[in-house]
Amino acid sequence: MRIFNFSAGPAVLPEPVLRKAAAEMLDWHGSGMSVMEMSHRGKEFIGIADKAQADLRALLAIPNNYKVLFLQGGAIAENAIIPMNLLKAKSVADYVNTGEWSKKSIKEARKYCAVNVAASAEDKHFTYVPPQESWKLSKGAAYIHVCTNETIGGVEYQWTPDTGDVPLIADMSSHILSRAIDISHFGVIYGGAQKNVGPAGLTLVIVRDDLLDQALPITPSAFHWKEQAEADSMVNTPATYAIYIAGLVFEWLEDQGGKEDRSRMNVPFRLRDESLDEAFLKGAKERGMVQLKGHRAVGGMRASIYNAMPVEGVRTLVEYMGEFEKRHG
Ligand SMILES: *Cc1c(COP(=O)(O)O)cnc(C)c1O
Repeated sequence: MRIFNFSAGPAVLPEPVLRKAAAEMLDWHGSGMSVMEMSHRGKEFIGIADKAQADLRALLAIPNNYKVLFLQGGAIAENAIIPMNLLKAKSVADYVNTGEWSKKSIKEARKYCAVNVAASAEDKHFTYVPPQESWKLSKGAAYIHVCTNETIGGVEYQWTPDTGDVPLIADMSSHILSRAIDISHFGVIYGGAQKNVGPAGLTLVIVRDDLLDQALPITPSAFHWKEQAEADSMVNTPATYAIYIAGLVFEWLEDQGGKEDRSRMNVPFRLRDESLDEAFLKGAKERGMVQLKGHRAVGGMRASIYNAMPVEGVRTLVEYMGEFEKRHG
């Protein structure tokens, strides 16, 4: 039996993803091999990696002038990799300190450059995000670093900083893909996969093209964003199985309703066979759920889940949808 796993990471994965991976374990799509056994340069795996990247780009609406890199080392390695990749022309970087993960980023960056802590929430035990008006930015900083979700203290940015021409770098390890973000505000977004994306071993790095040319000469090839971008993240052997599972997670996310800009309040959906609409509504009514009919302009169904809707209502609807699908699917 599966349990409810509240781990902060490595964390729960979608059960359908695990089942699919299990079914494909010994023979991926007739290849006669597990994904683990494939060459990372073979056409099967390249197809898997390309699809994972395309799906991630669609889910997050990543603009064309950003590269998506599938690297290794986790967010902690990236804490060192970031200054190495961005300090060619500058020697100072600004950091906002909102808690334990910010502190780790700062500590690591200090090995490579002068760090200006532009704002800190330490005065109130890291229980808030210092408003941007209070940030004391340095002149000529190479970048401004934030941790947009502090996994240990439980503090999350509900807004996106506006840093003008200075690239904004964000550790999004523990909330990436949980909501829509406007990627164009960021220079670099990074995170370990093991929270919201997939298994440990994979690091996502989303980097704007113009920042690919700022690396220090000492930057190791495996951690050099430009070299990795030019090699489709294959300067070294990538974490192939973790990329495959992340790809399944992206597909699963799309199945959950797809678009990242989806409303948290109004959830329109359609039955595959619209001739069953009336039957669906009738069954819902019998279970005490009404007003699920979609707006007449678009048809289909719509569940509006404003603040006062008890979670039990949503559960009942989801359960009913599952039942209905089994009966008619
Ligand atoms: C989990 C976490 C990390 C650590 O990442 P590793 O993959 O272990 O290197 C870093 N930053 C944040 C915000 C995290 O939640």
